[in-house]
Amino acid sequence: MTPLAALDPTGAPVGILYIVAFSLFIYGIKLGTHPTSARRGNGIAALGMGVAVATTLAQKGIGNWGIIIAGIVIGSIVGAVASKRVKMTAMPQMVALYNGLGGGAIALIAWSEYRHWIHAGETVSLEILIPTLLAMVIGSISFWGSSIAFGKLQELIPGQPVGLPGQKILNGFLLLALIAGGVALAMNNGPDDFSQPLFIGMLVAAAALGLMVVLPIGGADMPVVIALLNAFTGLSAAAAGIALDNTALIVGGTLVGSSGTILTLEMAKAMNRSVANILFAGFGSPVAGAGGDQEQRPHRSMNAQDAAIQLAYADSVVIVPGYGLAVAQAQHAVREMADELKKKGVSVNYAIHPVAGRMPGHMNVLLAEADVPYEQLKEMDEINPELSQTDVCVVIGANDVTNPAAKTDESSPIYGMPIIEVDQAQQVLVLKRSMSPGFAGIDNDLFYDPKTAMVFGDAKAIVSEIVQELGSL
Ligand code: NDP
Repeated sequence: MTPLAALDPTGAPVGILYIVAFSLFIYGIKLGTHPTSARRGNGIAALGMGVAVATTLAQKGIGNWGIIIAGIVIGSIVGAVASKRVKMTAMPQMVALYNGLGGGAIALIAWSEYRHWIHAGETVSLEILIPTLLAMVIGSISFWGSSIAFGKLQELIPGQPVGLPGQKILNGFLLLALIAGGVALAMNNGPDDFSQPLFIGMLVAAAALGLMVVLPIGGADMPVVIALLNAFTGLSAAAAGIALDNTALIVGGTLVGSSGTILTLEMAKAMNRSVANILFAGFGSPVAGAGGDQEQRPHRSMNAQDAAIQLAYADSVVIVPGYGLAVAQAQHAVREMADELKKKGVSVNYAIHPVAGRMPGHMNVLLAEADVPYEQLKEMDEINPELSQTDVCVVIGANDVTNPAAKTDESSPIYGMPIIEVDQAQQVLVLKRSMSPGFAGIDNDLFYDPKTAMVFGDAKAIVSEIVQELGSL
């Protein structure tokens, strides 16, 4: 023991410091609800985590300082370097990785605590055993599921849904085996030859379940799956908090569990799909008819020079960003284009769809990186009524979130999904590389509308050309 480890785990100072820690978490989340305060919110929540970790380490009975310090140093270096280097488009897999590590850590803590009790010759009471098993099972599912999500998004494994024959039956069998294992341990978990192997068997079964549930989900649905697994990690942490009698872990885990659940439901709603459909429908398999005959339909195209002239003579322009803008990293060029247009007296706003791109808030983050003023970012519900009075809508690397089939075609897979109603604008420019479909794999009637002109090419290259042209007009 060191002089640092002096606080009584059950004493008032620990309780008060944990209350400070989770108050900072809650305040951080509150600030995260607006782009202008989100960075500060992140910093405040991180401070809360610092208080929680320091309070835990300052308690009596904490040992192994060599390992603890090595863990903090290695973890901090890896985390800081990875966060600095990660590309904006790789953020979803970064979140998957961090989330998975959280779940894995909780599963290992549960295992270590269980070993500790058994080795001390104790029988674990039900009120501790149940949360310990939940922490282990949910944490393990989250770790392995998140690892697959990371592998798919990082293209280390195929992004298409991967299914085995009878997979759902196998998943059901694994779930039943986990329940049976839990019941057996509840009946007998003393220091015998049977309890530990059964616990490890359950850990392996939960790992297999995590792999089996996520493998059949298409790569493009991974952000929703990651939000769901994030909720799982939160629940496993809360369960571990109950087993360890740690208030900060219970509150922090519950916050992650509830916010992850809300995010999952909101994303599913914005895609007009149920969570069950996302988990079990194998979306992301090639859609019949996609990418085939759409090249045949007549459409209008123009070059960047003509697009620049059309924009320069408009009074109002609305920019609709999508996934292709993120791929092309065109955010800075887009900001320059808006600046040039404003110099010419054109009013410019951005229409932000909640699931444009591949992660929640993707467009807000990209445009914030290019210092686009927040007041120009208009939510879908706010901008839609203004679009019929907009002279030119410029769709940059967006596709599904503008597809009128979502309103008009009941047979469309995206029917019912709220969209940015670009088809209401006076003129439309669509900047993308080809007539290829987007994430949903379906053709977009907007591209064939007589008032639409396609401007083909990489978003960053075309927008940069438009900026040059605007400068010379
Ligand atoms: P889409 O995936 O519908 O379309 C993106 C378009 O970008 C493509 O059609 C592609 O066309 C174009 N593109 C790709 N690269 C470039 C480039 N370098 N330059 C120019 N264009 C490019 O994106 P949206 O943002 O419209 O819609 C998002 C979709 O993702 C929705 O269906 C949503 O449900 C789904 N989704 C969103 C999640 C989220 O959290 N945001 C999570 C999971 C799914 P081309 O190849 O011709 O260039």
